[in-house]
Amino acid sequence: MLTDEIIAKYEMTVGIECHVQLATNTKLFSGADNDARDKSPNSVISPIDYGLPGMLPVLNRSAVDLAIKAGKALNSKIAHVSRFDRKHYFYPDLPKGYQTTQMYQPIIEAGSISVPLEDGSSVDVRIHHAHMEEDAGKLTHYSTYSLVDLNRAGTPLIEIVSEPDIHSAHAAKSYATELYHLMTYAGVTNGDLYHGNMRFDVNVSAALKGSTELGTRSEVKNLNSFKSVEKAAEYEFRRQIELLEKGEKVVQETRGWDDARQKTSSQRSKEDAQDYRYMPDADIPPIVLTDEEISKIQSEVPILPNQWREILQPLELTYLQTEMLLDIENEYRGKVNFLDSIKQYIDSGNIERAKFFTNWQINVFIPLLRDESFAVGEIDFIQVEKAIYELISANKLSSTNAKILFRELIEMNAMIDIEAYATDKGYIQESNEGAIIVIVEEVLADPSSAKAVEDLKNGNEKVIGFLVGQVMKKSQGKANPGLAQKLIKERVL
Ligand code: MN
Repeated sequence: MLTDEIIAKYEMTVGIECHVQLATNTKLFSGADNDARDKSPNSVISPIDYGLPGMLPVLNRSAVDLAIKAGKALNSKIAHVSRFDRKHYFYPDLPKGYQTTQMYQPIIEAGSISVPLEDGSSVDVRIHHAHMEEDAGKLTHYSTYSLVDLNRAGTPLIEIVSEPDIHSAHAAKSYATELYHLMTYAGVTNGDLYHGNMRFDVNVSAALKGSTELGTRSEVKNLNSFKSVEKAAEYEFRRQIELLEKGEKVVQETRGWDDARQKTSSQRSKEDAQDYRYMPDADIPPIVLTDEEISKIQSEVPILPNQWREILQPLELTYLQTEMLLDIENEYRGKVNFLDSIKQYIDSGNIERAKFFTNWQINVFIPLLRDESFAVGEIDFIQVEKAIYELISANKLSSTNAKILFRELIEMNAMIDIEAYATDKGYIQESNEGAIIVIVEEVLADPSSAKAVEDLKNGNEKVIGFLVGQVMKKSQGKANPGLAQKLIKERVL
């Protein structure tokens, strides 16, 4: 058994390769549709994608533009000249006999990203390079036969290769998550993880702490969730330590992750580069880019995650709140502009307002959006939030009624007079002192309040919540709780 003490003797080292599917309309070298989701097998393919003799690939320029944007998100330099190479291997999902990729002159050169961690610190992970390449097809195995679907063959990818700068399973997961944030915010990919838009290969090794050499690594291929990146890194680290503690050797190999069993298993020993007989692809001219072109394309990249974290600083959010906001923005991109709205309030110096808006999103709106039984109507969320904020500020709406009102409004399909609607429904709270005094006095005189009143007199301020609650109940939720509290205190203390 591995004890914590044994594990503590070792250091984990992880490097990650990530394939990102580019959000182009067509494939990397053909005019076939690049969206293979839910299409019937082999329905979106061109002879170019499976290498029929005589075919001539033509490079899709918009894939190049997306790679240039990805380079900005990775803080990398873009090569002025990059080229495509052929990587030869035989597999039924690659009838061409070679994958067109960039081996010698990749388009994205060395870079570095800063990855925030849950404890508030961050880790810098260097990017070795990122290259463009085409995806292969997909095999589905049955008991005695396999089926080939080439819909994904020729789909444009970039493969981002990190340096081995990651030293914990948590950091591995955070790095994968940050790549996802970067690539989606930069508009490089649709980021549909379920359909494999981003896939991670995790290289893990274990070595005694203080040792100058890295241990032999194993590679866990084709992980498509952040959680599986974390679990696979942890599993491999422990598996390797167990071998090393028994005096055995770690074999350099490719392993697969079994999500159901939460285990890795050996697939094949690792090929060396020479096994692939890389050679320049003579059909595709080099990509030649000027600085002007590169900066023009990169100027279209919107605000990236770390810039957003910087912008959100004044709100003093926790790590989880900040990351949740970044995720929400992705999830509802094009439907609700959360971050832009927050930024407008911050830019105008109205931090309190920005905080209200943010809390409202996290605590009220998002739970509603995530509630599958709830249908969001056509109504403008930003306008509704504004109206509700004004009613709360004017002491006309309790927080409980605000949530009920919000829920009802968000379900509607047209904008209405919100205050009139709230009045009609009886949500507007009573801020008329006279009316509340009557209720407060009834509550205080009620025998069931006697103990609380006594406790309050003796300095136990906590019981005031109970008394305010009674007032709220008697007023059917319409009393302004702040006012009720003030009136209770005035009378008892
Ligand atoms: Mn690759």
